[in-house]
Amino acid sequence: MSGSDQTFDRPDTLRGRCLCGGVGFELLGPFRPISMCHCRQCAQWSGNQVAMTAVPLDRFVMNRGAELLRWYRSSEEAERGFCSTCGSSLFWRPTDRSRMSVAAGAIDPPTGLAIAHHIFVADKSDYYTIDDGNPCHADAGDFSPLPPAE
Ligand SMILES: [Zn+2]
Ligand SMILES: [Zn+2]
Repeated sequence: MSGSDQTFDRPDTLRGRCLCGGVGFELLGPFRPISMCHCRQCAQWSGNQVAMTAVPLDRFVMNRGAELLRWYRSSEEAERGFCSTCGSSLFWRPTDRSRMSVAAGAIDPPTGLAIAHHIFVADKSDYYTIDDGNPCHADAGDFSPLPPAE
């Protein structure tokens, strides 16, 4: 895979939280590059396009606030996690629980992450343009949903 030639040191662990701070979590690397999703569900869930990284479920650690987290089954295949106190849109996971996708904006910067591509661009709204030069896929594309193995 290309894209590993960045000069910064990637952190081994990323931490994040919701807006109120009630929900806190940790991700253990390596991390998947960011997918920008422009589908209707993400737009309605978050209010905009959604930037997600992902790790296998055994590299996701819930530090606090599990009791505040609520899950909404948004389709046959997936559910979306949000904080019941402040409403932050935080997590997306397939119903087979094979991974946890995490909203990149909830992660404390610097993240060392970068956008890899845009998906479901055929469904995007008309108020913005995509002009960062990254690959665009009309649908889910064919990227690997998990980060590369160590
Ligand atoms: Zn919260
Ligand atoms: Zn989406």
